[in-house]
Amino acid sequence: MNVVLLESKYWKDLSGDIAKADLKYYIETVANDVVEVLPDVSPHLNIIVLPNLSHVTEEMKVGGSAYAPELMDLTFDPTLPLGLDKFKEYIKDTLYHEINHTVRYHYEPMSRSSELFWVVSEGLGVVFERDYGKANHTWKEYADDKTMHEWYEKFKNADNPGFNRPEGWIGWAYKTGAWLVDRAVKNSGKTVIELTKMPTKEIIQLAEVD
Ligand SMILES: [Zn+2]
Repeated sequence: MNVVLLESKYWKDLSGDIAKADLKYYIETVANDVVEVLPDVSPHLNIIVLPNLSHVTEEMKVGGSAYAPELMDLTFDPTLPLGLDKFKEYIKDTLYHEINHTVRYHYEPMSRSSELFWVVSEGLGVVFERDYGKANHTWKEYADDKTMHEWYEKFKNADNPGFNRPEGWIGWAYKTGAWLVDRAVKNSGKTVIELTKMPTKEIIQLAEVD
């Protein structure tokens, strides 16, 4: 594992509540906690850290993205508008979520041609961060079965995967994915960690939604 704080003019805005070196150490510590519970994290995983990328989320003021088994990023508002405790909590949640994606991409390479690959990957990330990282994200809680089934059909029938997604679809992808993964866990008795290694098609079969 290799945690790299990239160069940025924004580091000067970093809150006085945490030093860069302590931030790096915190990320390494949490990432190692994830490795303890999630087998198959690449020993060559690079976590690059850069403030103020465009995927800092409204809810957390932190964001992350996974690209491949060996690469993910972390980003955040360096002024820590929600305070140090929330910042550390959301960095922790994001590490659980994105590292899950890096393992996922090892077993099933990222596909931009399937909306359900994306939805299921998000579901695995959401359920893993919730159940193993103790993430408490009320904005990712899903609705009743009828509503979720309708969203599943929308994603399944989307004709422009990955492009021009309508407003709000990212939030519904989290919810729909978590709904599918929770159903698959319940029906199969497998853990979310076992499901992380399985093809999207098989997870959807286990969810019994078609
Ligand atoms: Zn995700």
